[in-house]
Amino acid sequence: PVPPKQPPQPARAACTNPNALGVARTVEIDTTGGPGFGFEHFKQLDFLRDHEVVLTFDDGPWPGNTPAVLKALADECTTGIFFPIGKHATYHPEILRQVYAAGHTVGSHTWSHENLNNKKLTEDQKKDEIERGLAAVKWALETSPSPFFRFPALQHPPEMVTYLGNRNIAIFSCDLDSFDFKSKNAQQVIDTVMKKLAKLGKGIILMHDFQKHTAEALPTLLTQLKAGGYKVVAMRAKFPATVLPQYEQELAKDVKLPTVSSRPVNSVVTTVDQ
Ligand SMILES: [Zn+2]
Repeated sequence: PVPPKQPPQPARAACTNPNALGVARTVEIDTTGGPGFGFEHFKQLDFLRDHEVVLTFDDGPWPGNTPAVLKALADECTTGIFFPIGKHATYHPEILRQVYAAGHTVGSHTWSHENLNNKKLTEDQKKDEIERGLAAVKWALETSPSPFFRFPALQHPPEMVTYLGNRNIAIFSCDLDSFDFKSKNAQQVIDTVMKKLAKLGKGIILMHDFQKHTAEALPTLLTQLKAGGYKVVAMRAKFPATVLPQYEQELAKDVKLPTVSSRPVNSVVTTVDQ
């Protein structure tokens, strides 16, 4: 199918912090054929230069933590890629819209975070997880997300890798995992990332805007990245994801859609006879 026409991704706000980490470079990704990124699983596309990093955030949107991540990024005039869970996008669409409006790249991360290597799932169920997740992000944003996808728990079933290739959706593994979901505090998130970066010199960093410790760690982590001479690279898609209409229709039926009227029930429905 022909990629949908839509306005370009919003720009980031003008930077007022002269010492900000900022964004050193923006790259545009042609996702035709579903390229894979992140050396933990895909070793073909080595595009980052020495000391360049890409910040990525999974499993949001979530109250408290996602807005704190957005504030930390804004304070440092920098950016990342967000991989939201479809269900979470339907719970908190207004938070995901803030992510997008702030100029960050938004991809997708399945509907309900199923491990797609689960042998109990049929191929159709795996496909549904991917497609419904995409449709949910589009529903929340009211615009198509970027064709950037991350598999839950970095589990890559070969038939779904092929499927995403046919859908022209890029797959994001990572170069270094912060293991923030296992960290006992913010300091441990910072230490893990900085130690791994010192060893690798660059990389796509996997974090979770869903995690409290990550939200708490981010201001200090970004300061340390700047001090360490690291530079943030923004990744944008050349064209938006094509969301399949049948999944949008199914989702619209299931999600409790906002209506024009927000009057309380007793002002709408009045008992006149009983
Ligand atoms: Zn996840």
